[in-house]
Amino acid sequence: MNPPNNSAFLTLNAGSSSLKVALFSADDDHALVTGQAERIGAEGSLVLKDALGRPLPLAEGSLTNHSDALAMVIATLQQTRPDLDLAAVGHRVVHGGTHYDQPVTITPEVLETLEALSPFAPLHQPHNIAGIRAAQAAFPGVPQVACFDTAFHRGQPFVNDSFALPHRYYQQGVRRYGFHGLSYDYVTGELQRMAPHLFAGRVVIAHLGNGASMCAIHGGHSVASSMGFSVLDGLPMGTRCGNIDPGVLLYMLEQEKLNTAQIRQILYNESGLLGLSGGLSNDMRTLEQADNAESHRAIDYFVFRVQRELGAMAAAMGGVDLLVFCGGIGENSRVVRRRVCERLGWIGIEIDHGRNAESAMVVSSEFSRTTVMVIPTREDLVIARAARAAAGVQKKETA
Ligand code: AMP
Repeated sequence: MNPPNNSAFLTLNAGSSSLKVALFSADDDHALVTGQAERIGAEGSLVLKDALGRPLPLAEGSLTNHSDALAMVIATLQQTRPDLDLAAVGHRVVHGGTHYDQPVTITPEVLETLEALSPFAPLHQPHNIAGIRAAQAAFPGVPQVACFDTAFHRGQPFVNDSFALPHRYYQQGVRRYGFHGLSYDYVTGELQRMAPHLFAGRVVIAHLGNGASMCAIHGGHSVASSMGFSVLDGLPMGTRCGNIDPGVLLYMLEQEKLNTAQIRQILYNESGLLGLSGGLSNDMRTLEQADNAESHRAIDYFVFRVQRELGAMAAAMGGVDLLVFCGGIGENSRVVRRRVCERLGWIGIEIDHGRNAESAMVVSSEFSRTTVMVIPTREDLVIARAARAAAGVQKKETA
């Protein structure tokens, strides 16, 4: 049975110092409220906006930690919508290990499993769990649903899922998990709806944002991904290194005598576009505007790595029928899209410069053998839909 109309779904995406929030109505995919808390623990900020993009007046509170931030979000929502009735809360959880290939309603046993996975994602999983605990305390009895970044990739073949290490590492879970699965799930869902013939073929999705990865998807199933055991692997990112020879880590340890905390800081926070540009910026827009030797170095490397990964994914699938760009860079940077596509004639890609300049949905030319699309991703919608399903609520069909 459908709950009354004032019921809603909350989605939470807890990062290391941020908390992204969206409130969806029970009836459809329209967000009633969106926003985020940033720099939690430092001098944090919180912005929540209504469906028309107008800022909501904030309730009293503090942003000293994730549960305080969530309490402030909830107080603001309740102040704005005194009749708020949550049917379920959906959480983005970075790691579902080998256990979960679908969203799951959180029970004490599930929470235990998620906690046991924290060593696999020490910078993210504890914050996701803190968000779950805070929401459980704030909404007792309301179903909480975990949606995993790893779930989309769980069916990958062994050859992509594993490292050539002693087999015991594979057995203890040292595998390639993929990540960005909620984004890939959303984009493939959109493809299935809009272009079923392309969905059925060989698709590469390039999720290019501050975090960046690519995924090869054949017939709707993930067959290869650029991210591996951690969110460091594959493409260079805003501040993360991407693909690196493990010998470099041994060099840092043995020759530079760095400790693990120092190496982690370099790999996660000082590398990628920021490192390549000599500290200029981790932000693609800033790099494009800078247009100097440092920014060229970073953008050249980024573009080269996307092209190279596309070649690898074409090999994994025996060709590519469709390339989709998403994420902040993929959706907005006409420069990166143009430069990536310029050297992909060998795979049948020809970009239409006019369509690319407008960030149209299809940016390839009518002569292109391989289609190139831009599909804005919506990870929050995937979480909201999972929460809706867990609460047993049917979305209203629109005409
Ligand atoms: P995300 O993590 O998906 O929000 O993506 C953030 C990245 O997208 C940053 O590197 C931004 O500089 C980049 N970005 C957003 N808008 C643009 C734009 N108009 N042109 C180039 N890069 C952009």
